[in-house]
Amino acid sequence: MIGVEEALGKILDSIEVLEREEKPLLDCLGQVLAEDVYAPFDVPPQDNSAMDGYAVQAKSIVGASYEHPKILRVVGEIAAGCITELKVEPGTAVRIMTGAFVPKGADVVVPFEDTDEVDRKQRSVSEAEIGIRVGLPEASNIRRGGEDIAKGELAVKQGTLLCPAEIGVLASLGKAIVSVIRRPVVGILATGNEVLEINQPLLPGKIYNSNSYSLAAQVLRYGGIPKLLGIAPDDVEQLSIAVRHGLDCDMLVTSGGVSLGDYDVVKQVLAAEGNVSFWTVRMKPGKPLAFGMFKRDDGKKIPHLGLPGNPVSSMITFEVFARPAILRMMGRSNLAGPNITAMMEDPVKNNDGRRIFARVVVSRRDGKYFARLTGPQGSGILTSMTKANGLAVIPESTKEVKPGGMVEVMMFDWDEVQD
Ligand code: AMP
Ligand code: MG
Repeated sequence: MIGVEEALGKILDSIEVLEREEKPLLDCLGQVLAEDVYAPFDVPPQDNSAMDGYAVQAKSIVGASYEHPKILRVVGEIAAGCITELKVEPGTAVRIMTGAFVPKGADVVVPFEDTDEVDRKQRSVSEAEIGIRVGLPEASNIRRGGEDIAKGELAVKQGTLLCPAEIGVLASLGKAIVSVIRRPVVGILATGNEVLEINQPLLPGKIYNSNSYSLAAQVLRYGGIPKLLGIAPDDVEQLSIAVRHGLDCDMLVTSGGVSLGDYDVVKQVLAAEGNVSFWTVRMKPGKPLAFGMFKRDDGKKIPHLGLPGNPVSSMITFEVFARPAILRMMGRSNLAGPNITAMMEDPVKNNDGRRIFARVVVSRRDGKYFARLTGPQGSGILTSMTKANGLAVIPESTKEVKPGGMVEVMMFDWDEVQD
C-alpha cells in the first residue's frame, strides 16, 4: 500500500502533455495556448477618440470656460470606422464619435457635455461653429495607438490557459485559428456482472451503471472528452476484449473489479496486457486502486486507472488522481484544484492511519470558511456527493479532528461555495 502523494507522483510521471491542434478561436476556451502570439500591428491601430465630442488643438481652447467659451469653426465630422482627409488647425474643430481615428492636427477631444452644442441646437444658432467651455491638457480623451498592445509585443504567451479575456485579446489581433494543446480522450469502462446499462429494464440482482456517467461528467468538467466503452463482465477474456477497444484513447479509466473479491479481475487483465505500477493506496475511501500502463500492439502505452467500484470511491479517486492527470495532458501547469482552509463543524475520526477525504459542505460566514459533513459517509451513498461541494482532507497521522479544528478542503467548484 502506498501513500496518496507517491501514487499521484507515479501517475503523473507516466502522463505526457498531448500534441497541439489548430482550431477556431472560440472552440479553444479552457485549453492551453501552444504558441506565442505576437501582435502583428498596434492595438488600437491608431489614436482614436474615447468620447463623442470635438477634436481640437489644446492650444485653441486655453482659458475656455462656461462663461467665456472659445468659439471654433467646425470643418467636418468623423464617425467610427471612417477615415478622413480632414485636418484640424488652430481655431478649428472636427466633430468626432467614440472610436473614430483622431484627425491630423488634433491633440485633444472635448466631450459634447463641455461644449454649447445642445444650446446651439435649441436656439437654432449656426452649427458651423462650436463653443468650447473648458480648457484641456493635450491627449485628453484620446486613446493612443498601441496603448493596449504594441506592434511586435508578445500578447499571449505559450502555456497560457485561454479564458474569456485571452479569447478577446486574440480576437483583437484578428487571430481566427489558434494552436492549443488538444483535449484528452478518456475511455470509461464499467465492470461487473451485476451492472446494467441505464436504458435497460432493471432486472433482479442488477444495478444501474452510475459510475460511467459520474466519471464521464467529471471528465467533461475538467476538460477531457469522455468515450463510454460500455460494461464488461467479471471475466478475464471479455474484459481484455473490452479494454482493447479503449486503447485508442489517451487514458483508460475502469470502475470496479479491483478489490480482493473472487471476481475482481481488472488487475489480472492489466498485468497480462501491460504492467501494474501500484495497487491499493493509503486513503479512505478508495483503498483498492490500480494504476498501470496497457501496451498497445504498436508499442504505445496507455495509462490505466482502475478505480474502485463503489460509486463514491470512484468519484473521489477520480478527483484525486484522474483530474490532475487530465490537466497535465492538457498542458496545464496548476494541477491542484482550488483548495481552502476551513473550520470543521463536525468531528471526524481516523482510526487506521489512511488519508480521509470526507464529503463536506463548505459555507462562508463573516469571511471565514466552515465545513460540515454531508451525513453518512458510506462509499455507496452517492447522494452524499450531491450534497458536497468539496472534500475535507484528514491527514494519515491525525487521529481525530474535533469540531473547531482546521482542515484543508479540496473544492469541486468555486461557484458552489454557499454564503
Ligand atoms: P467492486 O469494486 O467491483 O467490488 O464494486 C464495489 C461496489 O460498487 C459493488 O457494490 C458494485 O455493485 C458497485 N459498482 C460497481 N460498478 C458499478 C457501476 N458501474 N455503477 C454503480 N455501482 C457499481
Ligand atoms: Mg465488481
